[in-house]
Parts: sequence; C-alpha cells; structure tokens
Amino acid sequence: MKQALFGFLDATPTALHTACELVRVLSEHGFRRLDERERWDVRSGERYLLVRGASVVAWIQGQRAAAEAGFRIAVAHTDSPGLKLKHSAARNQDGYLVAPVEVYGSPIVSTWLDRDLTIAGSLTVAPQAAPQARDRAALRPAAVPFRLSGACAVIPNLAIHLNRTINDGFAYNMHDHLHAILGIAGNGESQSEPSMTVLQAVAGCAGVEADQVLLAELYLCDTQPAALTGLSGELLSASRLDNRAGCFTVCDALCNSGAGDATAMGVFFDHEEIGSRSWAGADSVLLRHAIERIVGATDGSTEARYRAAAASCIISNDAANALHPSYRDKHDRAYAPILGGGPVLKSDANQRYATVPELSALFAQLCRESGCTMQQLVSRADMRPGSTVGPFSAAQTGIAAIDVGIPLLAMHSMRETAALTDVTALRDVLLRYFR
Ligand code: ZN
Repeated sequence: MKQALFGFLDATPTALHTACELVRVLSEHGFRRLDERERWDVRSGERYLLVRGASVVAWIQGQRAAAEAGFRIAVAHTDSPGLKLKHSAARNQDGYLVAPVEVYGSPIVSTWLDRDLTIAGSLTVAPQAAPQARDRAALRPAAVPFRLSGACAVIPNLAIHLNRTINDGFAYNMHDHLHAILGIAGNGESQSEPSMTVLQAVAGCAGVEADQVLLAELYLCDTQPAALTGLSGELLSASRLDNRAGCFTVCDALCNSGAGDATAMGVFFDHEEIGSRSWAGADSVLLRHAIERIVGATDGSTEARYRAAAASCIISNDAANALHPSYRDKHDRAYAPILGGGPVLKSDANQRYATVPELSALFAQLCRESGCTMQQLVSRADMRPGSTVGPFSAAQTGIAAIDVGIPLLAMHSMRETAALTDVTALRDVLLRYFR
C-alpha cells in the first residue's frame, strides 16, 4: 500500500490531477465511467464512476435493492489551498519575468516562499486541438492537465536586512508580496509577450499549441516528492495530505471491496477549501442526484429514494488537527489527537462536523474490529473548528454522517506531516465499512 500511496501523492499536484488519477486507478479496478447526459443502466455487483469537473463519484452497485440496503458512502475532497498564477498579468519588471498570484482557499502563504516551485494545472482547448481530451461533447472544450517537470518559479522573501522585524510576525499582502519570479526578463529564445512566454512553456508540456489555448488554469506547486521522515521513517511528509490522504484511503478501500448488500460509494468533491458551494462541490446536488439516479434505475418511486436515504450512512474523511508539541494550549487535552494514535472521530456541538451519535458508535466498532485505537477531537470552546464536506453531504442528501480523519500537523502548509500508520489504519477501517 505504501508504494501506491506515494505514487498517488506524486501524481496529483492539483485537484484536477487528483480527479484524473482517481479515475485512472478506479478504471484499473473495473469501474466503468457513466455519462451524466445518458440514461443509466446499472446492474447489481457492477462498478461505475462519474466525473464532474474535478469531482468524482464511484460505486459498487449493491446486491440488494438500494431502498432496502441503502448506501455506504465515504466522502473526501480533491482540492487543497494554494496559489494560482495570474499569467495574463505576467510582465517584465526590474529585470525579471514576474507574475502575481490569486490565493485559493487558506494556505499558510509563508510556506510557499523561497521554495522550488513548478507550475501544474490545465489548459482548455477546442476539442479537435487536444487528441488526449476524452470529452465526448463535441461542443464542450476539454481541459488537458499538465505539470512542468522541474522547478521554474520562486517567490522570494525580503532579506532580513531590509525587514528586520520579520521574525516578530509579518503580514504578507496577498497582492503585493507574493509575485512569482519566473526567470530573467528577456532571457530565452522567444522574445514574445510575457504572458505568451508563460503560456508557450506550459503548452509545450501539455502537447498543445499555445495559440489554441482558450483558458489556462495555472497553479504553483511543490517540486519536492512525498517522503518518510523521523528516525524510524514513521512520519509521512508531503504537500496536500489534506485531503489527498483522504482521497487515497477512500479510493483504495473501495477498489479492494467486493459487492455487498449495500451499494458502496466513494465521493471525491472539489471546492471544499472555498466553501463547497459550486456545481461539483459537496454543497451541490451532485451526490443527491447520483443517489436518486442509482435508486431510480431499479425503482423509480419517490418512496424508494426516501427509504434508500434513511438506510444509508456517510463517513466524511478529512484531516484532523493534531496536538502540536510547541502549541499544546491550542487543544483541550482530553480531545487532542496525536500522530500515530489512530483515526480521529471529530465532533462539534454546533455541527461544524456532521458527527451524530449513532454513527460514532459504528465507527468506534469498526476501529476496534480493525485492531486500531480511535482518537477523538473536540475543539476548545473558544476556537472554531475547520470546515469539512461532512455537514454539506448530510444536508444535501438527508443521510446521517460522521466526520473522521487522520491526525495532521501544519494543515494548509506547503508541507504537512502525518503518521503512515494512521493512513493505513484508516484505510483498513474504511475497507471494513464498505464490506
Ligand atoms: Zn480538508
């Protein structure tokens, strides 16, 4: 499993890459892609998936009618906070080729500075211009994912001699202080427009012509691969573990599950880090419509849909803030998960987490049967927990849910740290859940 995890982490620098890799892995395990525009003919025991933007829904159709056996659903999110390059605003300035950025979600921006960054994202071109684009809608242009192979950008800090108080705490201005330097101005063979210089570099990598690009979505990404650290190699260090670790554990468990009575389903939502409200986020009708269509394929009655929802449950799998040895007062000690301590059940009296008691007991039981300890997270009363896709998934479908996840240090940093054993333990718990 370790090899598969590292392969997944190194193949997925953006949400779209994560969705594409999920589709690749799921397809290898027999999941067949359905088109939202076509009539679905689903059969018990068969494996299906659908894709909307950078969101993926995959399921193994249950042996029994969904109205009776329901769905066993696990949800995660494909996106992570980061910096998006505003390539159209690229310019030659002070001897550099520079471009400003747009901030996606809530990254710890200081961790993006003074690093070897590369560019990954997607180029949207007319269908005939992208032979590798698989979108069958002739009228809809297709997004071609790409990633430059080496480092190509840096966002430098100001030297300490010019900012003597930086170690006292410094507020980066998101517009003024985060310009990416992409090279020396005018260096290189082409002397084209600065924005075209950027576009030409990424278009060549994506295998398309720069002048055929209709839209470029470019993100600055880490070039450092995922690694094990700690004296015994027990710590996992990588970018975007929130929530690629969640996507991996759900996908791996689903791929290794067989067909049971209930329909086993993994859902991978985009747009969690910006509030989930979009055409493909957890606060959309994506999951509800998928469930209704699956139930409706065998029983078109409204009653069958309501019964299926009532017989179903959702495990929302997202990272949990672990106790930090230098900031121990940020947790209530009785509810402070530690790395290596096992999967975390997250609860919040104000339903910032979706957790309900009935399913908490189920999760505790699954952990016990899997041979791992379960930890609990409840925030301090004077702090607000982060968001997850759990409450949105529950509200949009009317299905009871819980929020769980691996404990994680430095959430939303360029480099996050987890324990490898927590990832494998949660994957085993999800496997038991689906089975
Ligand atoms: Zn998350």
